[in-house]
Amino acid sequence: MRLSRSFVPILREVPREAEIVSHKLMLRAGMIRQQSAGIYSWLPLGLRVLRRIEEIVRQEQDRSGAIEILMPTIQSADLWRESGRYEAYGKEMLRITDRHEREILYGPTNEEMVTDIFRTYVKSYRDLPLNLYHLQWKFRDEVRPRFGVMRGREFLMKDAYSFDLDEASARTAYNRMFVAYLRTFARMGLKAIPMRADTGPIGGDLSHEFIILAETGESEVFCHRAYLDMDTPPATTDFQDAAALQATVDRWTARYAATSEMHDAVGFGEIAAADQVSARGIEVGHIFFFGTKYSAPMGARVAGPDGEMRDVQMGSYGIGPSRLVAAIIEASHDEAGIIWPDSVAPYDVALLNLRPGDPATDVACDRIEREMEAQGLSVLHDDRDDRPGAKFATADLIGLPWQVVVGPKSLAEGKVELKRRATGARETLPLENLGERLRAGAITPA
Ligand code: ATP
Ligand code: MG
Repeated sequence: MRLSRSFVPILREVPREAEIVSHKLMLRAGMIRQQSAGIYSWLPLGLRVLRRIEEIVRQEQDRSGAIEILMPTIQSADLWRESGRYEAYGKEMLRITDRHEREILYGPTNEEMVTDIFRTYVKSYRDLPLNLYHLQWKFRDEVRPRFGVMRGREFLMKDAYSFDLDEASARTAYNRMFVAYLRTFARMGLKAIPMRADTGPIGGDLSHEFIILAETGESEVFCHRAYLDMDTPPATTDFQDAAALQATVDRWTARYAATSEMHDAVGFGEIAAADQVSARGIEVGHIFFFGTKYSAPMGARVAGPDGEMRDVQMGSYGIGPSRLVAAIIEASHDEAGIIWPDSVAPYDVALLNLRPGDPATDVACDRIEREMEAQGLSVLHDDRDDRPGAKFATADLIGLPWQVVVGPKSLAEGKVELKRRATGARETLPLENLGERLRAGAITPA
């Protein structure tokens, strides 16, 4: 993609309204545009990152056995009256009246709707376990929308809902999501730590928030340092093996990790001082078992093997892909700009033509772009008439993993420069087979 034909409105000035680095960088790199408080348009670069995050989320949900559906954003108030939450939800819910004076709402979450789908079709334990998920925009009229897409009012959520006959299998369903979440965040280059979270009136120990450490995080968190070096469960994980899943979850919950609401200073104090991590964090996911909270009032019942009808056991599991775009930037940037992990970068390569209009560099850049794309690499080709210094600054700001710099002097010798954004490592390479070398990882990351 040629930058001159794309739509990447770079801002030179640091926008005044932005308080945290991810918000500043997203605005400067032309990723998002605020339309009203907490409501954003996604511009091409931002959208490409969001889509890549969604795809990782989807792949790991599918791998764990969850099934994708798509529920609407608009819901009927009557459905929410069945669970008692229409009144209870309060001012965060955006309530709307249609032309027939019917009360509807913009969904802040989907427990009621998915329970309605379930009760319509599923009547027997034979159809269980079941986990249905979707990726859909939510609206919550947050008191203080801030930090850009980190805390929006309209935001994207992946929400999954599990249905099981009894508590033991519901725990396995919970463990599947727990392990899927570890893999999901690791694939985005994040160290997300599962921390014990408040279960509210339902009680039990089945709620975890997945937190990444960042100075700008809104939560105060406490954990054992060992969490920063734990291995991610492999792609070969068998999500049907309940015992193996439980063992993984046990390993990931063995040490202290809690947000301030669940913090126990005595337990934390038992950790050796050098291993105590007391920091700020960003919640990127939240998983929750809530038993029959919705199935009982809404009549979602299934027949067990004995023929007896019982209320189905449920859990819900959220991830915030739009918040993740900002969270990844908080975790990965430097003075010059964003440093995208390879897995979510909007393009793989920034190709910089240092002398546009020069037939030699133009032809070479055109060829490099086509060759790399033919090899499956995505390229953002800076063909604009701009000073080299400005091009370097833009490339560092946008933060694509690789930069290929084509200048007239080295090109005369058949060479181009390759830079790894994350380490700053540079190498001068012959033009031939540049794409292949990139794919193989031309420079080993430091
Ligand atoms: P928070 O405590 O940050 O308000 P929450 O507990 O209300 O989050 P959940 O209802 O568990 O969040 O939602 C699931 C996920 O959706 C969260 O882990 C987060 O990643 C994302 N999310 C929630 N609220 C927002 C928001 N206002 N803007 C962007 N993402 C959000
Ligand atoms: Mg909230």
